[in-house]
Amino acid sequence: TCQGRVYLRIKWKIYVLEEVQKELLSFGESGMSLMEMSHRSKEYSKINNDAQKAVRELLHVPDNYKILFIQGGGTGAFAAVAMNLINRTGSADYAVTGTWSGKAAKEAAKYGKVNLVFPKADKPGSIPAESTWTLNPDAAYLYYCDNETVDGVEFPYIPNANGIPIVSDMSSSIMTKRVDITKFGCIIAGAQKNIGPAGVTVVIIREDLLGNPMKICPSVFDFTHINKENSVHNTPATFSVYVMEKVLQWIKKNGGVEAMEAQSSQKKTLLYDAILHSNNFYSCPIDEDVRSRINVPFRVGGPQGNEDLETKFLQEAEKLKMFQLKGHRSVGGMRASLYNAVTSDDVNLLVKFMNEFRKQYG
Ligand code: PLP
Repeated sequence: TCQGRVYLRIKWKIYVLEEVQKELLSFGESGMSLMEMSHRSKEYSKINNDAQKAVRELLHVPDNYKILFIQGGGTGAFAAVAMNLINRTGSADYAVTGTWSGKAAKEAAKYGKVNLVFPKADKPGSIPAESTWTLNPDAAYLYYCDNETVDGVEFPYIPNANGIPIVSDMSSSIMTKRVDITKFGCIIAGAQKNIGPAGVTVVIIREDLLGNPMKICPSVFDFTHINKENSVHNTPATFSVYVMEKVLQWIKKNGGVEAMEAQSSQKKTLLYDAILHSNNFYSCPIDEDVRSRINVPFRVGGPQGNEDLETKFLQEAEKLKMFQLKGHRSVGGMRASLYNAVTSDDVNLLVKFMNEFRKQYG
């Protein structure tokens, strides 16, 4: 995707983007690009339905869950979640483990009362034990971010919310591991990390949670309305959904989410082992039990990082066509993002480079 950050040999690029390129000027026999076609055409209608079907198949989504495509990105979905779900009781619980859940909590506070189930940590990098969380029995839902993309913190479990619907942001982890959908009330995921171009956000929602949006909820964020209109209530991001559908077919052809999970676990081991066995030349500031399989932040030149060495690391990496390894500006250091488009071979090349760099500068 546009955000598959270690660009080495992106296998799905060959499968997906070459197909897109072939169809760009003429979709099927039409002589028209998909971009020229109405979102009410039979061609787009098939793509829309096929994409929903692929999400359902890949994640084993039960029939009592609806799959919607909205716009507005992950950030739009932060507001949409609150406007669709908070009305039932007026308040919601938020587990803030990093940047994105923090932003989601802030957004939700515009629409109802937000209770943080544990105090905000000064330094993200851990998840407090569930036994210490303060859950509000009247919360309309419990929200958490499955994988904090910026901070590199991933939930190794699904929290227990005592029957309260659980909402999870899976923007950076969707389709990288199996998920028991029945444990969730709602899942949101911007497509741009693992499943397609920016522009479409996937919403999976249990149908009994529909029907209670706030009056102020714009129709483009109203899950009940969008569901009724099968995600074509207004012009969707048709091109993004089209490419996403192809990525989902690519995942299916390559062994499904199960295979993505196996690959993800292999990639995680390769990279964290290289960090662990570097004699502290590389270090990861995240608690071991919650280290992300997807976004791996690390420092170069000791636990506090050596900025000169880090600049050098980035320059040398770029010479080898490994781009965008710089950590998010809010946390510094490095961050390797191991989305589905990145293969184990790619990570092996990164590790090889890291080892050589350490030999030279360590
Ligand atoms: N949630 C997570 C986990 C993210 O990683 C991101 C973006 O990187 C967002 C939400 C925000 O997504 P968007 O930029 O589409 O609003």
